[in-house]
Amino acid sequence: MTRTLDEAISEVVVSDNCSGCGACCLLDPGLSMALDRDGFLRPVRREGSATPDAQRLSQFENACPGRIVSSPRPRGASRHPQLGSYLESWVVWAADPESRHRGASGGSLTALSTWLTETGRVNRVVGATAAPQPRRTISVTITDKATALAAAGSRYAPVATAAVPDVLDPRGAVVAKPCEASALARMAAGLPEAERPVILSFFCAGTPSQQATDDLVRELGVEDPETVTGLRYRGCGWPGDFTVTTPQAEHTMDYRTSWGDRLGPSVQWRCKICPDGVGESADLAACDYWETDERGYPLFEEGDGRSGLLVRTERGRDVLHAALEAGVLLGEPLAAEKIVAVQPGQTWRRSNLWGRLVGARLGGRHVPRYRGFPLQRLALQDLRRTVRAIRGARRRALASAASRAR
Ligand SMILES: Cc1cc2nc3c(=O)[nH]c(=O)nc-3n(C[C@H](O)[C@H](O)[C@H](O)COP(=O)(O)OP(=O)(O)OC[C@H]3O[C@@H](n4cnc5c(N)ncnc54)[C@H](O)[C@@H]3O)c2cc1C
Ligand code: SF4
Repeated sequence: MTRTLDEAISEVVVSDNCSGCGACCLLDPGLSMALDRDGFLRPVRREGSATPDAQRLSQFENACPGRIVSSPRPRGASRHPQLGSYLESWVVWAADPESRHRGASGGSLTALSTWLTETGRVNRVVGATAAPQPRRTISVTITDKATALAAAGSRYAPVATAAVPDVLDPRGAVVAKPCEASALARMAAGLPEAERPVILSFFCAGTPSQQATDDLVRELGVEDPETVTGLRYRGCGWPGDFTVTTPQAEHTMDYRTSWGDRLGPSVQWRCKICPDGVGESADLAACDYWETDERGYPLFEEGDGRSGLLVRTERGRDVLHAALEAGVLLGEPLAAEKIVAVQPGQTWRRSNLWGRLVGARLGGRHVPRYRGFPLQRLALQDLRRTVRAIRGARRRALASAASRAR
């Protein structure tokens, strides 16, 4: 007998492979996303009951990034072992100084969202923004410059943009994390470009737990978290500070400490074994184009933001060039290798991933299927590092199984 969608989802959640993207909620209106006790979004059934449905099950199995992620190979694209397929690579920033200032890096996604909606190229952009209680993050519909600016900047907390009911509407666009972009692209696979939304993505080091945000708020001296009236993770400068506002005061922590020491270490397991932190399934993928030291490590010194931008598809190329022609984005072509050089976290994770996956399997974990990523090739480039990754992942998998059994 066909198993139910709920049984298939539960298998992903129990094995800790759920990224919290929310795409499964598109398959059944009785499902929605809720924070679990570790502070991550997971699908839960609110209404209705799960009955076996072979078509929905197959859609889920083909799209859920906790089950499968593939590396697309569009015709005519160059291939990079760390960046995937791309047609062009650029460094860009918003021509509008406010979008550039408020944006996470160059404000490129904010400028594109504004321009796409205000010119009628799309009817709306799905993105993420602060909730009415700004310690939380929610999905949002961007329809003009004001709503784009309100959503500018990165939210280092759980939010499921792929769960928005009409996110696959071909008249719209979405700003999505790479796992969300993968789920949406796989759900729309086989459709002509005009019948799927424009997918904008960004490089992603992983989704931190909501608890990490809440802990940071307390650490900064806010006694009653309900009094928080504003919370931004970065932006308003590049990279900008983690900033919490209450009626009494503004509290800040620099990016290196807030991301590096507090939020980053709390990312969920699925993000630690992510094969695609670079938005391979999107039309366009943006990232920080940091200034670096002589070893290639980002300096995180304040400056005017600049985004690296990878053009993944012909549709992405059309959007970028029209935006450049319209004077919405400024910038210049850039060798893709220069983007790799300022993203040590991404290259480290991909290079270690094969070892991590092998170690996790040896430790009894079930891991997703990854197709078309050169993980084994990258692992063979440094065998000692790979052996270390296998041992470490196996040890952690066994420890986690033992603690679950207690
Ligand atoms: C969890 C996370 C991890 C990241 N890791 C990296 C990394 O490893 N390397 C790197 O170079 N860059 C990373 N970034 C991306 C980087 O912070 C910038 O988003 C990127 O450089 C684009 O900058 P921008 O100025 O063009 O974006 P902006 O103009 O500021 O626009 C940001 C857009 O992203 C949307 N958004 C914000 N947070 C989320 C979210 N959590 N989920 C879905 N949509 C969201 C907003 O709605 C907005 O439309 C990460 C971002 C996030 C949210
Ligand atoms: S990874 Fe996404 S699609 Fe898969 S179970 Fe989790 S929320 Fe649903």
